[in-house]
Amino acid sequence: MDEEKENKTLIINGETIAPGESKLVQLNIARLPTGTLIDIPVHVFNGKKAGPTVLVQAGLHGDEINGVETLRRMLQENRFSVKNGAVIVVPIVNIFGFIHFSRDVPDGKDVNRSFPGSKTGSLASRIANAYMEQVLSQVDFGIDLHTGGSQRHNHPQARYTSGDLKSEELAKAFNAPFYFASKLITGSFRKATFKKGIPTIVYEAGESMRFDEKAIKKAMQGVQNVFKTFGMLPKGTRQDKEKTSIHLEFTRWVRASRAGMFIPQIKNGQTVEKGQILGLITDTYAKKNKKVKAPFNGHIICVNHQAVVNQGDALFHIGR
Ligand SMILES: [Zn+2]
Repeated sequence: MDEEKENKTLIINGETIAPGESKLVQLNIARLPTGTLIDIPVHVFNGKKAGPTVLVQAGLHGDEINGVETLRRMLQENRFSVKNGAVIVVPIVNIFGFIHFSRDVPDGKDVNRSFPGSKTGSLASRIANAYMEQVLSQVDFGIDLHTGGSQRHNHPQARYTSGDLKSEELAKAFNAPFYFASKLITGSFRKATFKKGIPTIVYEAGESMRFDEKAIKKAMQGVQNVFKTFGMLPKGTRQDKEKTSIHLEFTRWVRASRAGMFIPQIKNGQTVEKGQILGLITDTYAKKNKKVKAPFNGHIICVNHQAVVNQGDALFHIGR
């Protein structure tokens, strides 16, 4: 890439952002029943010199707030003013979900299962459509910040699309404690971007509706690592001193063999050995204790924090 060349002018939602300029663009979505207009704030930072355009987003699931806080802090600390290329920052994609403390929009639909969406579809589908047309048309690659859902606590991890080498490179550059390939889900943001040829990674850390300081700090560092790896920051910017990300070849869920009260006995992120006791499922009357054991040597990357579980519930995500 020619570092001396001026970066391109971006056009988001009809507004132009010239090289060296930054702007807050409001993407009109819909109105609340009370008439209040809902827009998605899109922060655009266009560097002076040529380079890639990166989308960094959070809150696609409205209750997954670690990413929202990550981007708020990075905005406050002015960490998106890159020298080369441009950064598009969307701290909350699903505004409706965020104000309702919900993963979904008010009709119960998941925006992250509604891509690429349609202009005349459900609310979730309209949000996806507006986002595809106005934002994604400008993007070279994306970082999507999530947390575990339903009380599942994810140890910081980056997920890429199997066979998409650029997304694998992105996940590695992010340098979360773990990274691995994961399947594309129909209607997901990652599948829609994959189809458009925009490599995207999903960072997962912590759980919904709870701030997790470690998850937030790792995310801030991870986003910066990507900027650094793709030559967007000035020379001499501090390199991440953390040990490099562990690649997991495969992952699987350990599920509850019976219902009961669930007591995890290991730490999330911990290395475990085959047969090691990961937790207990007890009945409520002190009659029985069922041990949950590791199926193979590996790393624990998610722990369910739900105290009462049903048979078949996912308890631990383990990778190797
Ligand atoms: Zn999510």
